[in-house]
Amino acid sequence: MFDIGRKLGGMSAVLEGRKPLWDRPVYRSLHKGIRAAGQGWVPAKSFMGDTARSYSSHPIYRSDMYGGLSKLWGASFLPFTAEDLADWPISGPELAPYYDKLLSRIRVTGADDALSGYFGGTAYNERALDRPEVFRRLEQAINARSGETSFIAGNPRLAVANSGPDGCTYCGHCFYGCYNRSIYSADMTIGALEAEGKLRYVPGKRMLRFKRLASGRVEIDWEEPESAGSKRGTDVFDRIYVAAGCIESTRIVSASLGVATFPIRENPMYQVPIVYTGGVRAEDFGRHIALINVLAGRLPGAGIERYAHIQIYPINVYLWNHALSKAFGSTGLRLSGLAQRTAGKHVYMMLFYLHGDYSKDSSLTFGDGGERLSFVYRDGTQEQMRLLVDGFAQALKGTGFHVLRHFVEPLAPGGSYHYGGTMPMGRSGLIRDSGCSVTDGIYVTDSAVFPSIPAQNHSFTIMANAYRVAERSLAL
Ligand SMILES: Cc1cc2nc3c(=O)[nH]c(=O)nc-3n(C[C@H](O)[C@H](O)[C@H](O)COP(=O)(O)OP(=O)(O)OC[C@H]3O[C@@H](n4cnc5c(N)ncnc54)[C@H](O)[C@@H]3O)c2cc1C
Ligand code: SF4
Repeated sequence: MFDIGRKLGGMSAVLEGRKPLWDRPVYRSLHKGIRAAGQGWVPAKSFMGDTARSYSSHPIYRSDMYGGLSKLWGASFLPFTAEDLADWPISGPELAPYYDKLLSRIRVTGADDALSGYFGGTAYNERALDRPEVFRRLEQAINARSGETSFIAGNPRLAVANSGPDGCTYCGHCFYGCYNRSIYSADMTIGALEAEGKLRYVPGKRMLRFKRLASGRVEIDWEEPESAGSKRGTDVFDRIYVAAGCIESTRIVSASLGVATFPIRENPMYQVPIVYTGGVRAEDFGRHIALINVLAGRLPGAGIERYAHIQIYPINVYLWNHALSKAFGSTGLRLSGLAQRTAGKHVYMMLFYLHGDYSKDSSLTFGDGGERLSFVYRDGTQEQMRLLVDGFAQALKGTGFHVLRHFVEPLAPGGSYHYGGTMPMGRSGLIRDSGCSVTDGIYVTDSAVFPSIPAQNHSFTIMANAYRVAERSLAL
């Protein structure tokens, strides 16, 4: 496996391989390190001070880290439903065994709840994580009226260990990166496969382009950007699997086949705060996980065309990061601490996602000037989001939970991390069919091949589809 991914430095290097018990000194040193890294209170999607690269023309997340974007992710791990796959050349039953195979390697928390009927009851293998009582109340409030509102809610399905030495300690620092390696990241599986002798990991090598040889084998050009003189070379293989993340995989195909422009889709996404005016016990927040605490969805119907997805976090990123720190500088930082101790227990952050069909005419172009990426939203996307957020506010009326929906427009976040569809399988002319091959022996296996971009998180399906493509192609 060639990988350009660099190992993380900063705090993560200090903590790498250490499994300290959670105690005050560790907590204090972690805090000190985070602040020394100059990140402010709640860093912008970083991992212990190391940030992912983003494009200048559009702030889209891409990764050059060992473990990829799973070093930054929120660990929400949901399968696609049969309905999500309706416009794909593969069916739910074809993908289901690969979701199951992944569950034999990745620990996922969940519970039998109102979401099970929609996402399937078995897509988790660990008991749900504990959460402050207020989130159980919120889940109940949503489900109490789901027959009339079409909103459903339940426990998050999180790729987080909940038992054993790696089990979550509820320290609440997830947004910096987990000190205890409780949050799954892909480098864990790469390391395990290496240890089992099933994979040879070759770090520091960046794949540039591929070429199919007359012999039927595949030649790839690579570079080692960190080596003296930025070494370049070629190697020949029977098959290759391009899985460099949607943007980079598309760049490799562009460089190899001379195609300049590709379509692309993303999930329109908005941040909206929610306030609870009922009683909250402070000790409930003494130990908590800062990833999703309530997962909700809006089933299609009554004006909402496709399943829409809602993630609710106890971490008030909006107040701490966007408003206070940015507006008031170092005073804002201190206010942020205050907000954490007080408002943080009553103000939560929600992320709303729409189906990728709401981005249209969006494109990714490669040329001499580098990459150009534009996301254009469909007419009415904002209206669809407003309908969703207003509907959610309405569904919670009289429950003590107040959706601050007037913030919807200005709070659209500045970055995208759910995108794909540059070479939809079976549709693009580039990826021939559901086997995801560009030509014999050359396969693309990340979200670049997704024919559509459903609203829920993609990683489980990226991995399941890659597993399917690899297994199928190796059997040929
Ligand atoms: C802040 C944030 C939160 C997220 N939360 C969630 C979530 O809760 N749930 C979810 O499902 N998804 C989430 N995502 C999205 C998810 O992380 C990505 O969809 C997923 O990681 C994409 O996986 P990938 O393997 O296709 O690409 P990547 O994770 O980008 O991995 C690509 C790998 O290829 C390597 N590479 C790149 N270029 C080359 C090259 N030319 N040659 C060799 N190697 C190369 C990189 O080093 C990297 O390791 C989140 C993303 C972000 C940024
Ligand atoms: S709360 Fe978050 S950072 Fe802390 S151990 Fe659990 S998953 Fe890791």
